[in-house]
Amino acid sequence: MVPNVDSYNRKITYLRVSVTDRCNLRCIYCTPVKNLKLLDHADILSYEEILKVIRVATELGINKVRLTGGEPLHRRNFTHLVESVCLIPRIEDVSITTNGVFLKEMARPLFEAGVHRINVSLDTLNPLKYTKLTRRECFDAVGEGIQVAETGGFSPIKVNVVGIRGLNDDELLRFADFSVRKPYHIRFIEYMPIGRDLNWTTEKYVSSDEMKSKLKTFGPLLKIPPSIHDGPAERYRFESAKGEIGFISALSHHFCPSCNRIRLTADGKLRPCLFADDEVDIKSPLRNGYGHEHLKKVFQQAIARKPRRHHAEILEKREGLRPMSTIGG
Ligand code: SAM
Repeated sequence: MVPNVDSYNRKITYLRVSVTDRCNLRCIYCTPVKNLKLLDHADILSYEEILKVIRVATELGINKVRLTGGEPLHRRNFTHLVESVCLIPRIEDVSITTNGVFLKEMARPLFEAGVHRINVSLDTLNPLKYTKLTRRECFDAVGEGIQVAETGGFSPIKVNVVGIRGLNDDELLRFADFSVRKPYHIRFIEYMPIGRDLNWTTEKYVSSDEMKSKLKTFGPLLKIPPSIHDGPAERYRFESAKGEIGFISALSHHFCPSCNRIRLTADGKLRPCLFADDEVDIKSPLRNGYGHEHLKKVFQQAIARKPRRHHAEILEKREGLRPMSTIGG
């Protein structure tokens, strides 16, 4: 058996690590305010434990890591973790997904720690809407943070935008204009039915095809040929634009056949599929003193449990699914 090939012959090379379940924002579609159960600190993997899992993963063929959360920059000494991950042999690509609120102070230390690619989540370019959406007044901080990241050399800077009807679907052309003026990669993400109590409905869902056809009224979308760092995004740019536009169509165009990902939650569960609550506990063996070889087997079990395809269509009716803030996106 090839260590990182799953039951459907997909090679798993990409680990997304949620370093905390805490976030300083309360995005209405991501983090519930009612019944938000935070993990006890003791249940969250320490940096040493996270590093151990990543090292094990590299021996199985993982070469790409994304650090996410909760809000990763919210965790104390996050830069130290980044530095250590960047130094792990066989890790070729490290990136971060952040809400950008602390980037103004942290972009430079993070860059020096070795990470040069960053995704900043920003669903609206309207400050009032931002406050409504995130339940916090941090719009200016994010703008300044992105600017500092840009001057500090981060490239690419990707801006994650979850398209939600009635919330930001009227801003698509503003984002188009943003991509023309700024060298950022705007990534439109389809709103996914994840997390109980978060009121996902089909009415709020906007397919990437719909977003694309609205964006075409701004100007012709020129296709960008795929490159190795693309993941599932379909990429375009407007003529003379400094930046680009991408679509991540997790629901409308399944990319499961090419899925190369596995996730590690902040409480030490390996999650084979974003959309399924099936998880493999790696924290207990870690804390019970099991060695490297055993941890490798646990990791392989998680790879083997990746389903052929996701079943997001049934999630709406299910109980118990973790909110995205605890999985990391
Ligand atoms: N705090 C960081 C941030 O804001 O980017 C990282 C964690 S956040 C859970 C990661 C990404 O998941 C964000 O871009 C967020 O917009 C996205 N996300 C959260 N809930 C989602 C949903 N239901 N559908 C699609 N994307 C979602």
